[in-house]
Amino acid sequence: MPGLAQLHGLQRVSAGVPRVQSVPLCKARHLLWLMLSAAAAHAQPAAQVRPEDTEVWKPVPPIVSPAPATLPAAPPADAIVLFDGTNLDEWINTSDGSPAAWSVADRCMVVVKQAGNIETRRKFRNYELHLEWRVPADVTGSGQARANSGVFLASTGKGDRGYELQILDSYRNDTYVNGMAGSIYKQSAPLANASRKPGEWQSYDVVWKAPVFGADGTLTSPARATVLFNGVLVQDDFELRGETVYIGAPAYTPHGDSPIKLQAHNDPSAAPSFRNIWVRALP
Ligand code: MG
Repeated sequence: MPGLAQLHGLQRVSAGVPRVQSVPLCKARHLLWLMLSAAAAHAQPAAQVRPEDTEVWKPVPPIVSPAPATLPAAPPADAIVLFDGTNLDEWINTSDGSPAAWSVADRCMVVVKQAGNIETRRKFRNYELHLEWRVPADVTGSGQARANSGVFLASTGKGDRGYELQILDSYRNDTYVNGMAGSIYKQSAPLANASRKPGEWQSYDVVWKAPVFGADGTLTSPARATVLFNGVLVQDDFELRGETVYIGAPAYTPHGDSPIKLQAHNDPSAAPSFRNIWVRALP
């Protein structure tokens, strides 16, 4: 700790002539306190941005039991079929573009977690998407670690870059509401919890309007998503604030037409399955 003489040194003389007279002891102590406080504040790291900061827990969306399933829903005549139960020809590994390495059995594809995310070879702008998914009947885990997956309505890069419509077992499984099934991850909770029990097939029907960027990269029009979950409206023309992120605030980065991506989430619960995925391009 500096002594009073050193404090006086703050009013160091120039050419032997003091510019400021020595301060009284009480003022010197106050000055010392200010110095130490400033040093301590400088030494502390900036406040950490935590995942919890963007979790929303209330209000909890009402449970709306969907009508009995009429799945699989056959594709309209002009649909591009992305998965018909036979092969993964339309899909590639997100990380390196190699053939998708998820498994196909019983006319559905099953997430292989160690293989990572997969995405469509084709790119899309605005579209209507139908997708069916199923949580294993014997699923275990809780919260986000219970059959977590997701469909990225536009994949803007490797990993989880893009705009995620969450897939999760939200049947009697509490988590933050902007991370439950039917949510636009950490941006918009679903209007209802229309989850079916594990073991039953469920559906998403999505209308996606891609964001529009000007020639200089500025956002001209944000992305919009309408989602029906098991036939129940859960996202009503929601305007996204940017790409969905686990930590921090969403933001837009300019991009063009993009693949649709499915998530291999790194949690220990049993992997979900998909079937009957088709898309119709929109103007
Ligand atoms: Mg997910």
